[in-house]
Amino acid sequence: MSSRERFAYFTTSVPIEIIIAAGYKPIDLNNRFVSSKTPISLVDNAESFGFPGSCCAWIKGLFSVMSDIFHKENDLFIAVTEGDCSNAKVLEEIIASKTGINSYIFAYPASRDQIDMKKTLEQLANFLGTDMEAAEKIRMELVPLREKLNKIDGLSYLYPGLVTGLENHYWLVSSSDMNGDKKVFEKELDVFLDEILKRKERWQPSSEIKKIAFLGVPPILPVHQFIEDKKGVVVYNEIQREFAMIGKYSSLEAQYTEYTYPYSARFRFEKALNEVQKRNVDGIIHYVQSFCHRQIEDIILRNMLKEKNISTPVLTIEGDKPSFQIDGRLATRIEAFLETI
Ligand code: SF4
Repeated sequence: MSSRERFAYFTTSVPIEIIIAAGYKPIDLNNRFVSSKTPISLVDNAESFGFPGSCCAWIKGLFSVMSDIFHKENDLFIAVTEGDCSNAKVLEEIIASKTGINSYIFAYPASRDQIDMKKTLEQLANFLGTDMEAAEKIRMELVPLREKLNKIDGLSYLYPGLVTGLENHYWLVSSSDMNGDKKVFEKELDVFLDEILKRKERWQPSSEIKKIAFLGVPPILPVHQFIEDKKGVVVYNEIQREFAMIGKYSSLEAQYTEYTYPYSARFRFEKALNEVQKRNVDGIIHYVQSFCHRQIEDIILRNMLKEKNISTPVLTIEGDKPSFQIDGRLATRIEAFLETI
């Protein structure tokens, strides 16, 4: 085997503690796709390969990113099937047969039971050539870093506008793989926190700012930027915050059973709506992705708002293909929403 670093690429958040313990660098393909300078060409490439137009753009982007960057001898591909996306199962088959890369199917146990979760984590650890003791050590090492993410997230709603919604999004979403290197990531995080603390000295409350909770999968479009151009500020990024694993946990199995993203919509929204109330937002923007099963979860969100007598206005928006700007129709809808709340 060459001395090249080994990478473990994955389709959505997986226990990076196990990946790091096994000596791999974690890479979340979603982050690579959405931060690409040419994301639309990645979607086009996948369509040229045969992916249908009516397939979620994320899946197509992940396929193209993965086809470009892997190193067959050293790297691994982990597709998360249960708890994320059924498309990932077929994606794993296509990538494994196209590239010959060593791949693994990770399925979050639908039971959300800690014993089942522990078995699932042990299987992943065995596959990667490590064990749970080593992974727990990494979890403990990551606690201070995750506390810093928690600090940024807390400042985002306690001082609206101090941290932009896009900054909050960036730091939380990037924590799914820590940009491949937890040490470098933490150093960059420290620099950002220093900057925020300096900004805090100059921060003034503003009655004009509309506080927004952003629910749903991370957007494929620059929605945060647009909201902030129109005097809104996202003070809660639901799924991005889940990726950051903010909280106090006694073990990896506890952490990954409290992580809401892989489980039922009701479980997810219970936690999200607590945050919505705690952060006292003016409106909720629920982002859904075209051709994604999670679009239907909007029904559950609206039912739960009624059940809980939460009257916060909700705007549901949909994105399809990546773009560096949002189209006129979507811009008008968001603008009108911000004006009415
Ligand atoms: S947005 Fe939905 S369909 Fe697309 S990859 Fe994510 S879970 Fe799958």
